[in-house]
Amino acid sequence: MVRAIYPGSFDPITYGHIDIARRASTLFDELYVVVMENKKKNYTFTVEERVEMVKECLKDIPNIHVDTFSGLLVEYTAQKNIDVVIRGLRAVTDFEYELQMALANKEIRNGVETIFLMTDKNYSFLSSSLVKEVASFGGKISQWVPEFVEIMVRKKYEKHAK
Ligand code: ADP
Repeated sequence: MVRAIYPGSFDPITYGHIDIARRASTLFDELYVVVMENKKKNYTFTVEERVEMVKECLKDIPNIHVDTFSGLLVEYTAQKNIDVVIRGLRAVTDFEYELQMALANKEIRNGVETIFLMTDKNYSFLSSSLVKEVASFGGKISQWVPEFVEIMVRKKYEKHAK
């Protein structure tokens, strides 16, 4: 049984994330999509909201488990006996940070391998920040996130506007 983890902020989940999760789920027996909670990061959505959106978007894939974690990623992998970390790569700009994290994780827990999946050509420019930026100005985001997420994002910015 080979288990992998796809960790992220998912603030909110986009079609870029969904594409990576879907492809990773075909490569491993079980995929844990884990919404990370880092006290130092300023998220737009609460961890409960982010988990709700991730669950809704990935509910049709039977070997995906959605979870949340607020500690060190490698601690989670040790607890669950997971040896593979999945990350998505968009542009060279992602590379430096991802390499640093991959090497650090390996240093802390030997045996943890990070596997990078290249973004789909349609989503290479797509990020959660872009979705939020466009939504904050009332722009169209339905090409980047499923309807469930779109509604949550719209609600968030309606609240902010009041
Ligand atoms: P984090 O704060 O951990 O970077 P994100 O939710 O921003 O969390 O991203 C989680 C992972 O998904 C990262 O590996 C990121 O590179 C990847 N990712 C985000 N958007 C895309 C996309 N459009 N295509 C491919 N991978 C993506």
